[in-house]
Amino acid sequence: MKKTPQRLAILNYLKGNKTHPSAIDIYKAISKKFPTMSLATVYNALEALRQEGLVKELHTDPKKKRFDPETAPHNHAICMRCGLMQDLKTDLSIEVPADIKDDFDVKEVQVEFYGVCKRCRKRMQKSESLNSTVDPRS
Ligand code: ZN
Ligand code: MN
Repeated sequence: MKKTPQRLAILNYLKGNKTHPSAIDIYKAISKKFPTMSLATVYNALEALRQEGLVKELHTDPKKKRFDPETAPHNHAICMRCGLMQDLKTDLSIEVPADIKDDFDVKEVQVEFYGVCKRCRKRMQKSESLNSTVDPRS
């Protein structure tokens, strides 16, 4: 892999990053340092880093791929309101079910727990209590 300053900056940005950023998130963060860099450069760099095994591409949303510097197998909890993606520390060992074994060439197993994160729950509680105080019908 060519170690261009942009690629190193992307790698640096991803190092220890727990937010599972998308290419656009990464582009926004890095373009402050490299104002002339294009989004295509970020995509190319991410693809190169993925091929090197330095980042993992997450398949949760094929339209908005997210990237994870933690390349060891692990699972996620995802907030359905804000998109927060949190690593699961619990090791879930899941085997490919027999009914898809023949039809499907399984490359990877990822379990995702969907719900509402703590912050969004707090926000929802706040707006609920706010609404109940201003609601003229109550
Ligand atoms: Zn949330
Ligand atoms: Mn992760």
